[in-house]
Amino acid sequence: MKTISLYTNAPALSNDMAEVLRLFYGNITLLVNEPGGDWTITHEERIENNIRIVCVYDSNSAYETSETLTGDAINDKRLRRRQAKLGVYRLLKERTGITPPWGSLTGIRPTRLVYTEMDKGCTLDEALVNVQNVFDVSDEKIAVLDRIIQTQQAMQGPRPNEADIYIGIPFCASRCAYCSFLSGEVGSGKLLVPYTDALCREIDSTLKLLKETGLHPRAFYMGGGTPTALPAPLLDHVLTAAMPLMASCGEITVEAGRPDTIDREKLTVLRKAGVTRISVNPQTMHDETLVRIGRRHTCAQTEEAYNLAREMGFDHINMDLIAGLPGENLEMFRQTLEWVSSLAPESMTVHTLSIKRSSLLHLWEAELPDGDMVADMVRAGAEVAEYMGLRPYYLYRQKYMAGNQENVGYACPGHECLYNVDMMEETVSVIALGAGAASKRLFPQKGFIRRAFNVSDICQYIDRVDEMTQRKRELFIEQ
Ligand code: SF4
Repeated sequence: MKTISLYTNAPALSNDMAEVLRLFYGNITLLVNEPGGDWTITHEERIENNIRIVCVYDSNSAYETSETLTGDAINDKRLRRRQAKLGVYRLLKERTGITPPWGSLTGIRPTRLVYTEMDKGCTLDEALVNVQNVFDVSDEKIAVLDRIIQTQQAMQGPRPNEADIYIGIPFCASRCAYCSFLSGEVGSGKLLVPYTDALCREIDSTLKLLKETGLHPRAFYMGGGTPTALPAPLLDHVLTAAMPLMASCGEITVEAGRPDTIDREKLTVLRKAGVTRISVNPQTMHDETLVRIGRRHTCAQTEEAYNLAREMGFDHINMDLIAGLPGENLEMFRQTLEWVSSLAPESMTVHTLSIKRSSLLHLWEAELPDGDMVADMVRAGAEVAEYMGLRPYYLYRQKYMAGNQENVGYACPGHECLYNVDMMEETVSVIALGAGAASKRLFPQKGFIRRAFNVSDICQYIDRVDEMTQRKRELFIEQ
């Protein structure tokens, strides 16, 4: 691991600059205003005549940029961070000869930047050019953004007074090695009944909240964890309680992500509740990889679960894949794509492996795969999606992603998931229920978002569910 000494007169920006350093070197140790690094860079900023001047240099090169202060504190703070990052980015690009696919962008929602430019009055083409020029994004990624935004613009936008509903089921059959979610294993199952009882209590209070606020649910999403890790009677209990929340929703998704949790009885429960979209997630079609990443199911089980769901009338099935799983090469990933293509789901999400600090892969000190290979995998995903008649409709990035790539959702026209787009673009308020769920309320006129968080510990959630309700009331009513 590389150790870098960063000398700066603005140490508060060191995390921002570290993000850019990781784009080029992966995991690093950063020494802020300390000697001892394999390489030393210096960042200095000063303000002269209402202009912020930033200089970033090492022993060979120097980059200076200037930015006029706008007087808008939030905007100036954002531009200050951007200036520091761009200085480090330019220095590293010259030093390494590497141009990351997303340039200096480290944020998770590149589409937001394009929309921000469009909000200022730019056309889509102009906005894309501006984003490319400022952040040095590759032509390939700009083309993906272009297609995604065109698809999103054709989708049904939110109406005033609409909100999405999210319910989290934080249990899984086993923990996947790459997982960074707060879900626990079902284990002895002793928490399942108290958890679903608490959830039903929160559902009841949410129904009252909707009445009081006049909010209408737009899309319903049950995720986790794995909702189908619940036994069928408990799944039925929660979905039956939640049915009034779904009444006005055109889209009702339940993640049935782990094929080993899917059976006829649970699918019958989902059908009865009116679920319109499910996910059956293979991640890979190689059994040896599934063992390696701790998913206790086989590819044959995935195919059986998929076929069963089809036979029972589910006409929108999503499949998630991961590019860059441990031990996989391009050929193996292509085989997975061909297999998924033969099953013909209505939507497919191609994730890129990221090794988050809370994952088992991080604990095992696993390394990210070769960036060029992962870039080829992501390209192969896009090609196969095109062949399947799916088009990209949402995209997000995460920290510590292989090859600095992205996650892209593809769907047949008309099968784009509203909830996914609403979440990524932050265009709709969300009322979120369950342990670890985060509600958010948009204030479009004021241009900001407020959030209320449920506790993530399952036992705490069960004990304090009424407090979670109160937090939501304060967010949506008492402000
Ligand atoms: S199924 Fe999803 S939530 Fe559950 S352990 Fe695997 S990645 Fe995490």
